[in-house]
Amino acid sequence: MGNVTLQSGKERAIAAGRRWAYRSEVLPADVAPGAVADLVDSRGGFVARGFYNPRSELAFRVVTEDAAEPVDADLVRRRLAAAWAYRKRAADDPRYCRVVFSEADGLPGLIADRLGDVIVLQVSALGIATWQPVVVQTLAELVRPEAIYARSEGGARRREGLPEEVGLLWGTMPDPLLVEEGGLRMRVDVAGGQKTGHYLDQRSNRLRLRQLSPQGGVGLDAFCNTGGFGLQALAAGVGRVIFLDASEAAVEAALANAARNGFQGRAEGVAANAFDQLRTYERDGSRFDLIVLDPPAFARGRAHLDAAFRGYKEINLRAMRLLRPGGLLVTSSCSQPVTDDMFLNMLADAAADSGCRMRVIERRGAGADHPGLLGAEQTLYLKCIFLERL
Ligand code: SAH
Repeated sequence: MGNVTLQSGKERAIAAGRRWAYRSEVLPADVAPGAVADLVDSRGGFVARGFYNPRSELAFRVVTEDAAEPVDADLVRRRLAAAWAYRKRAADDPRYCRVVFSEADGLPGLIADRLGDVIVLQVSALGIATWQPVVVQTLAELVRPEAIYARSEGGARRREGLPEEVGLLWGTMPDPLLVEEGGLRMRVDVAGGQKTGHYLDQRSNRLRLRQLSPQGGVGLDAFCNTGGFGLQALAAGVGRVIFLDASEAAVEAALANAARNGFQGRAEGVAANAFDQLRTYERDGSRFDLIVLDPPAFARGRAHLDAAFRGYKEINLRAMRLLRPGGLLVTSSCSQPVTDDMFLNMLADAAADSGCRMRVIERRGAGADHPGLLGAEQTLYLKCIFLERL
């Protein structure tokens, strides 16, 4: 096994919990891309063992800080078993949960979402990709799904020098695939939907909306994707919900899900840019009793923070103005560099500029099946705040 040398002083972040070393922090090493290596300090002392990939921005990914622990198939199996045992305890329903969440489960670059009978894998790092056959076999044995499907694509994968892999890895796909949330059934398109087909990170917040939702009135589910928030609002007793998304396929999926649960007369779809549509609603005097804002990440890196804030503030300010007094705003950000406090400050700014008085009812994040690591706070990426207009 080869060594990868950290520049002096850089071991502190790893000792504090960060699970990777940036390319700029390590010296070029004579280790094959994707191979297991030891990360050592400038005096040659052991820091951690993990995967090396000189092509990646995250050139070294920590797997263990125990010098006596080999990184092998057995370790991968143990980590998967621990991840699944934790979900069986912690997930609100282990049939629908993130079974493996990358660094937080000691398997950097591996995401496994269980959507009922199917597990969807997202493998985004070369090191763990080497172990994919062990991952597939072990998950099949532990979780006993009907199928395991790969959705390993996108920028992160390209930046690792990995080709795209999308398709069935194991078993037979059920068709249609339905997931259940609070007794409602939603269809998931694992092959063609966004990311893994269903946003499990917001599941607990959708279920919370079911409890906090107003009764009667009109709701707007903006950035609705397959409609999970709006469906819970309809089940809670909101009279009518508008499902708004820039993607026509998403709006269609949301409306089909509404019909599937008996809400057809109470659901309306709008395929449009939410920024434009919110402005239109403000101009024509539309008012709502509930607004959900769940946009994609506006800030992927720190460099985009200013533009991201302008975006978040604009949609939140307009949503506040569009709410009737007593109305509920459920607003989210999944941008990694945006912290809880930054998000709350942005909301305070938006409230001040909108002239609306708002009270915070609950500050939430992703569910317990999406644990985040201290020292790598990027993994605590999801903010979801419930506010009421006074
Ligand atoms: N609320 C959803 C997840 C939303 S994901 C759920 O609980 O499942 C973000 C969604 O925003 C995606 O469906 C994407 O198509 C949509 N989107 C991205 N940019 C948009 C824009 N400018 N206007 C409206 N929708 C947009």
